[in-house]
Amino acid sequence: MPLGLYLSVPFCKAKCSFCNFASGVGNDAAVERYVTQLVEEIDAARRDADRIGASLPHLVDTVYFGGGTPSLLQPEQLRAIFAALRRNFELLPHAEITLEAAPGQIDDALLGAALEEGINRISLGVQSFVDAEAQAVGRSHTGDECLQEFHRLHRAGVANVGADLIAGLPLQTMESWMQTLRMVGEAELEHLSVYLFEIDEDSRLGAEVLRGGERFHATRVASEDLASAMYERACKELPLLGFSQYEISNFAREGFRSAHNRKYWTRAPYFGFGLDAHSMLLRAEGDGALRFANAEELASYGMKTRTLPQTVEQDEAFEEAVFLGLRMLEGIEIAALEERFGAVRVKALRQNVRELVGTELMWEDAGRWGLTLRGRLVSNDVFGRILEPVAA
Ligand code: SF4
Repeated sequence: MPLGLYLSVPFCKAKCSFCNFASGVGNDAAVERYVTQLVEEIDAARRDADRIGASLPHLVDTVYFGGGTPSLLQPEQLRAIFAALRRNFELLPHAEITLEAAPGQIDDALLGAALEEGINRISLGVQSFVDAEAQAVGRSHTGDECLQEFHRLHRAGVANVGADLIAGLPLQTMESWMQTLRMVGEAELEHLSVYLFEIDEDSRLGAEVLRGGERFHATRVASEDLASAMYERACKELPLLGFSQYEISNFAREGFRSAHNRKYWTRAPYFGFGLDAHSMLLRAEGDGALRFANAEELASYGMKTRTLPQTVEQDEAFEEAVFLGLRMLEGIEIAALEERFGAVRVKALRQNVRELVGTELMWEDAGRWGLTLRGRLVSNDVFGRILEPVAA
């Protein structure tokens, strides 16, 4: 099975108030130092995999540059990373190669280098097409600039252009959300991700909401009910614009579903390089998989600290296969689950599934289980309830 590669570039021009990723503002020297370390890590991949007894496929069919804002790399830095990838892996001719970018932050030289190196998918962090909402969370772009950026990328030859949106940001109303969805129609995108704003301690805005403060427009964050209604509206409106939903947060035109993310949902092997990057590889001998992750702090990443590889036990692998599989709208094939993990484990879920189908949070059809729209809105609760007997 070919491998997926993830490369983290954790630098941004400014930190958005809602962001809970391991990213920050870095100067030129810090970025250059980081790229050197990233290249060293890629060159050491095979030796590292051998040392922990993991199987590392040579063929690669997806590469994903995330962050951070990897479009801020210099062209020669991007080329150095690709040279390291090609020294150590074979990137298949049809490989899906994605670059995350911020609107207005991908200059002509970097775009030219990206296309020459084979990047064929660009995903822009828009979050909102409404100018006041984007500015309230620290983004510098306007909705019109985003539209121009999409057209520029298409004209330059990028066939697969996508955007991320967030429902639940400060100042958002149902009316303004509809304005954002209308602009999605004008943007002629191939792919769209719609996330709900996560209120947690890991972002400055989330922490401010939790402590009841007023900074970062924390008092104007959309209520949970409104954010859910906005998500539901997106699920209904986006198909009218030609997108079909294929995962809890993802929508695509025909032929443009993310192959890289599918690896996470189907538990296919992937290797992550860079800050806070996670990996899952199959064991070189015997069954099962190994997981490990890189340091979350830049200073520690420089010291090449990684978590110790952990074996994914069968029970854990089964739970993952259930809740990751249910993220996809096609759901999970019951027979395949039985074949992979045994009928006894699957039987233990049946009573819970029946109850969840009865309350219209799940469906069962043609030998598959899946989440209904209501179930997708409370997916974490559903995952907890369906897995209760397994966890007990
Ligand atoms: S949301 Fe994206 S652009 Fe904003 S700080 Fe986080 S990683 Fe950077």
